Amino acid sequence: MRFDILRRWIGVVAVLGLVPLSAQADERKQLAFEVIERNVQQMTDISDSLYYFGELGMQEFESTKLLKETLEAGGFKVELGGAGMPTNLWAEYGSGHPKIAIVTEIDALPGGSQTPGEFTRKPMVQDGPGHMEGHNTHGGVASMAAFAVKQVMQRHNIPGTVAISFGPAEEQLASRPFIVRAGYFKDVDAVIYLHIRDTLNTTFGIGNYAAISSTFTFHGKTAHGGVNPWDGKDAVDAVVLMDIGFDKLREHLRPTYRAHRTITVGGIQPNIIPDKGQIWWFVRVASMPAAKETYDKLVKIAEGAALMTGTTFDVKYSASAWPQLVNKTLGEAVQKNVDLVGMPKWTEAEVQRARDFQKLHDKPVIGLRTAVTPLGGRPQASSSNDNGDVSWVVPAGSLNFPAAIPGIEAHEWKAGVFPTSSISHKGQVAGAKTLAASIVDMLTTPELIQKARAEFETESKKTPYFSLVPPDAKPDVDLNRAEMERYRPEMKKFYLSKTPRFN
Ligand SMILES: [Zn+2]
Repeated sequence: MRFDILRRWIGVVAVLGLVPLSAQADERKQLAFEVIERNVQQMTDISDSLYYFGELGMQEFESTKLLKETLEAGGFKVELGGAGMPTNLWAEYGSGHPKIAIVTEIDALPGGSQTPGEFTRKPMVQDGPGHMEGHNTHGGVASMAAFAVKQVMQRHNIPGTVAISFGPAEEQLASRPFIVRAGYFKDVDAVIYLHIRDTLNTTFGIGNYAAISSTFTFHGKTAHGGVNPWDGKDAVDAVVLMDIGFDKLREHLRPTYRAHRTITVGGIQPNIIPDKGQIWWFVRVASMPAAKETYDKLVKIAEGAALMTGTTFDVKYSASAWPQLVNKTLGEAVQKNVDLVGMPKWTEAEVQRARDFQKLHDKPVIGLRTAVTPLGGRPQASSSNDNGDVSWVVPAGSLNFPAAIPGIEAHEWKAGVFPTSSISHKGQVAGAKTLAASIVDMLTTPELIQKARAEFETESKKTPYFSLVPPDAKPDVDLNRAEMERYRPEMKKFYLSKTPRFN
């Protein structure tokens, strides 16, 4: 029997209820896998193009342009510029419920420019930005998986919506609270958060720390430091007193707190009483209510510092992030597809290359991982990610895919060596298949979504969500602009000119 006739026949008997549900599920996933297999080049063209764009947060203009054109050509409705951010991209296909969204990001890091494949430090553009966490791969994997799901929905008449949210500036925690505030997730039933890693895995539980980032600017009165200092009000004194004041508080804070600061305006020269001083703070704690409690004390200390110095101050909200609340029900569902898809089959040459790189950089020489990671809760990390906010308004699952080298930490140029390699490409295929299969399950298994929702209602009620974004705050769309404009002309010479089209 010809394959298309066979498929039609299965479709007919499926409607009649003659084929077991599991067989239908297998057939749908098989189709998703076929779509991905024949579009590997298109997927990796996207990811590789994004690598060479190397765009910093809020400046993802070339990256989102390519994604918009590719997804529109693939049948998606794409909105660029929502929630007041020109590089905020939301794409969707279908209509109504269930509505499942992939949540991820595509920004690079300052100073990360590196020639891919070179084992030693060799920037493409000296001091320029670049992908040293592999966020470029998120663009290809998310788009590929969503397109494969769309093909399955069309072929099998599956109702609902598949969406992708590419949020700007993850590295600066700068966009998700605004995207949440704008209501993008109000009618979403579940999300899957996607990230590169060195293994294929999912997880559940509270993932990382809450963070609040704000800049305090003190305003005083300038005077000659030698002639009439009594006429001056020293704004940098206020900065220093705020720093000392917080140090006195440290003993009285909850065990999980972290607080770090940078003095961003510290005066001009010693004999000028400065009328401006500025200090930028990050406060982190294991939960957002506790972070807010610490942050409110920090504001009180600023008031005290201003009182002591006769200065005034204003506070500018920079960023905030809730810890990720990862849904166990969705974790169990994703794990089934992690086990179904499995790790890529690495060649001996790929394993050897990974080993050589690990050896050169004094890391454990373990090559590449060959087994998927079993499902388990993870210890709460003390880092932060602004996608955490999303997970308190909608049930969130997570998926990591194996496109990085074990032992090579992100945010170092070394993590910029492999994101366009065959290792990364194979890991992206595994990621796209697992993601597509998981979304197919979520679209076609109402009881899965109901159970995830019930779990979400119980867990999120323990700490009801509130937004840290001040009502009048706007996203910082000028973030990284000067830096990006400085390097872009040189970086342009390396752009790939690809126009990937899924089929
Ligand atoms: Zn990341």
